Amino acid sequence: MRPSGITVNDMKTNSQQVDQQRDALWNAIFDNYGIKTVTSTDKKKSAYVVNQQQLEVFRCAGITELRSGKSEGSSVRLKVPFETETCIEASLYEALRDENKRVPETRMGRSFIREWLSIGDEVLIGHIGPALFAIRPAAIKHLSDEEVHLRVMSFLPTKQLYERARHAPQAPCVREVTRSEYIRSPEVVAATLMRAGGSCEMPSCKADLFLRDDSSFYLEVHHVTPLAEKGADSTENTAALCPRCHREQHSGSNRQELRRKLRDHIKAMHPDP
Ligand SMILES: [Zn+2]
Ligand SMILES: [Zn+2]
Repeated sequence: MRPSGITVNDMKTNSQQVDQQRDALWNAIFDNYGIKTVTSTDKKKSAYVVNQQQLEVFRCAGITELRSGKSEGSSVRLKVPFETETCIEASLYEALRDENKRVPETRMGRSFIREWLSIGDEVLIGHIGPALFAIRPAAIKHLSDEEVHLRVMSFLPTKQLYERARHAPQAPCVREVTRSEYIRSPEVVAATLMRAGGSCEMPSCKADLFLRDDSSFYLEVHHVTPLAEKGADSTENTAALCPRCHREQHSGSNRQELRRKLRDHIKAMHPDP
């Protein structure tokens, strides 16, 4: 017997496309979650049929009474942490389907399916207490688990977030990490530091550098084109930067422009003495 509310099609797409590597992550983030891919019928009818797990998510988040009929549906707001808009609206309702004597189906309408989703989109619906979230896992494959986790947490109301933080294990788990590292030439590092002469090589940076134990100024040697992008480990491709400029090269929203600026500057300084 088929569980109510799930069509054969749902079950198939579900087992095929659930992002299994991230199961542990979703379990760590959400109290409960469910994933289902948008079918062509969902899109045609502007009504995303939720599967059993997703229905459970709504129930656990406190939405228990569902009205029937598209226009009568409960209005729900889902947080969408990885989209330009931070919130999306949906109506949640039971479609009775009396005419065919089939079990009622829970559907989501409005902008959720009409504007946000396309056929084939895999959608995760999860909740943390009363807060509901919708995520398209395929759109965030490039983000690390940590980045995803952090982003979702930043969408929680302050009180809820502090509550979770209080319950985090105070002695963090230890995980063994194996990673490949590039072995950088100490000569290139030393030559870069010598060239910098104790100040940050980012043009127009006026950072006040602090001293190390050996009385040298603290600078970090950065590869303008990262080694991972096939940048050379040579002084033509390195810059000694203050911690602020260094982090900005890696994480600033304008890092592409900053990289260009730094590259031009280093190029203008060469050749070596
Ligand atoms: Zn760097
Ligand atoms: Zn700097």
